[in-house]
Amino acid sequence: MLNLNDDISLIKGIGEKKAQIYRKMGIHTVRQLILHLPRNYLDLSHVTDISEVVIGERCLIKAEVIRKGNEQRIRKGLSLFKMEVSDGDVMRLTFYNTKFTVQALKEGQSYYFYGIVEGSLLKPEMRAPVVIAEQYVGKLMPIYTVTTGISSKVVANDIQRALAALTEEINDDIPGEILKKAGLMPLDEAIRLVHFPERTAQYLSARRRIVFEELLVFSAVMMRFRAARSIMHTAPLFKYDINEFYKSLPFTPTNDQQKAITDIENDLCSGGIMNRLVQGDVGSGKTLVAAAAAYMMFKNRRQTALMAPTELLAEQHCRTFKNMLSPFGINVELISGSMTAKQRREADQRLQSGECNIAVGTHALISKTTAFKSLGLVITDEQHRFGVAQRASLAAKGEQVHTLVMSATPIPRTLALIIYGDLDVSLIKELPPGRSPVETYRIDSPKRRRALGFIKDRLDEGRQAYIVCPLVSKDDEEDAPANMHAAKEYAKELAAGEFKDYSVGLLHGKLRPAEKEAAMADFASGKTQLLVATTVVEVGVDVPNAAVMMIENAERFGLSQLHQLRGRVGRGKHQSYCILVSDNKSDTTAQRLKAMRDTNDGFKIAEEDLRLRGPGDILGARQHGLPVLQNADLTADTELLQMAQQCAADILKTDPMLLLEQNRFIKNAIEDFSRQIGERPN
Ligand code: ADP
Ligand code: MG
Repeated sequence: MLNLNDDISLIKGIGEKKAQIYRKMGIHTVRQLILHLPRNYLDLSHVTDISEVVIGERCLIKAEVIRKGNEQRIRKGLSLFKMEVSDGDVMRLTFYNTKFTVQALKEGQSYYFYGIVEGSLLKPEMRAPVVIAEQYVGKLMPIYTVTTGISSKVVANDIQRALAALTEEINDDIPGEILKKAGLMPLDEAIRLVHFPERTAQYLSARRRIVFEELLVFSAVMMRFRAARSIMHTAPLFKYDINEFYKSLPFTPTNDQQKAITDIENDLCSGGIMNRLVQGDVGSGKTLVAAAAAYMMFKNRRQTALMAPTELLAEQHCRTFKNMLSPFGINVELISGSMTAKQRREADQRLQSGECNIAVGTHALISKTTAFKSLGLVITDEQHRFGVAQRASLAAKGEQVHTLVMSATPIPRTLALIIYGDLDVSLIKELPPGRSPVETYRIDSPKRRRALGFIKDRLDEGRQAYIVCPLVSKDDEEDAPANMHAAKEYAKELAAGEFKDYSVGLLHGKLRPAEKEAAMADFASGKTQLLVATTVVEVGVDVPNAAVMMIENAERFGLSQLHQLRGRVGRGKHQSYCILVSDNKSDTTAQRLKAMRDTNDGFKIAEEDLRLRGPGDILGARQHGLPVLQNADLTADTELLQMAQQCAADILKTDPMLLLEQNRFIKNAIEDFSRQIGERPN
């Protein structure tokens, strides 16, 4: 006899050890377990003949093992097994590191194999196929997101047992009339169906019901916060002459920068609370806009907190802000996770006394000990890396705090509106003058030497260069394919060989903070000519003298990531180059790298990325930090989202204070969320 709010350890078959693992996954109750939806399904509903497979698609075949090859050791930690199977037509299979699975397969016997078909129609292949037990054939097999110590199959079994033992009906929070209008099935039915559907259509409609509820609650929460903010007022700032600030800069701000700054000024001086997104492609000069906003705050005796996603970026922003703002007597300080307790205490004190005007840091800024004398503005850079909750909890350190969000990720405006609430947007489209587009080339390994020679020529002209590798070090990642480049070894090799007459630096995420700082500072000052790095340089690093970005194993990176990396060059007056090295022959790689050659426009790249990868990846459903969205995907579930928004608006219109019993589930969600971010809707 099981109830929804029971602890998961009450489910038969879940002992304390397994319960611990579930808790680590955020699953504590029976309800949470059954709402842990499959992330995907293996479609085992029908068996395909080898003669009818489609290249590039997943399928299930039933075939006899006709020849088993011997184990081939590729290198330490990687061996593969080839085999041929037949159902009249032949297919080759390649298994990786699965000795026991392969041993269990007998020549002359038939098995079910599932996987993506590759190769050609004449010579179809399946790499890393899954051997499927007979009992699963004919159905959709759920695949769950899991963690170490638990498998998807175990989760499926636990859910099955939980559903069988549930005594109470899973009751519906959503009123029947809404369900009917939206064409949705009852929750009880949806949950039972979503885990073990027989056909794709079934799980689609079951998932719709579950996701709709999440989106409805989400929309209502966002609407309530929006409404609360729009009635909030604060003393308008006094408008000081911004030309004072402009005059001190080494260049003239572009029209778009000035426009964004004017937008901000108008917000701050309006008496309302600012909530603005500044969106501009890499290199468009968003930092200057942020500095201008901080300048206005300072003039009005209010403090600013600038939050960056990495220490590296925080340090750089701190430097830039100091350069631009200390001439006005503004004190800028770095609050860093790597400070000693004493340093930290002293810095906190200066923030509390108001001696420090601007605090720059990572999420270390959110820590409980950090308090401000008069925080007026929170700026977050590269916003998509922070959740709403993180941003809000920083804002909660002051009263009626303005927020400014800077992002290079082009998020469709409608989506931005939903995620950030009543967000206003300033676009920076124009790049600072004198920039010529980065020239981009794709090469393969045989041309690497020439490319390195080209880099040397640029260094001889006084420029600097980056080489980015996907791995930190070969030692740490033994499973990685042999052709993958690692920064540590690569840097060593170049410094001893090709680049022995140049200074070569190394930067990666596993260095200690002080080492990272030193590596970056050496590169920024020009002491290091060639920086071999991992993707830690991806976000925001700004060294205008750097003119070449070479990316090894370019196929390993997503399009948007490549664009971000390329954005590290072409930031000054020098012609810059991006060299993408890849030996990968796949179509997606070809398309991705071609898109990089064809355009420098971040918006176009994002569109292409969306087309190639699908929307879910671009803005992970879990990145917004809203607890109410467990399964919904804001980019993919747009039609459902619209319906949910309409529905939420109707509910709030008829019951604005959410006093009706039937709307209690929304009220509860709002309270949960407020508690989490330490802010009240009003
Ligand atoms: P991003 O938008 O990627 O954060 P940054 O703010 O780092 O861009 O600016 C990129 C580079 O352009 C920096 O070196 C900065 O000094 C320079 N820059 C910014 N605005 C201008 C301008 N109006 N004229 C010339 N250079 C500028
Ligand atoms: Mg930036």
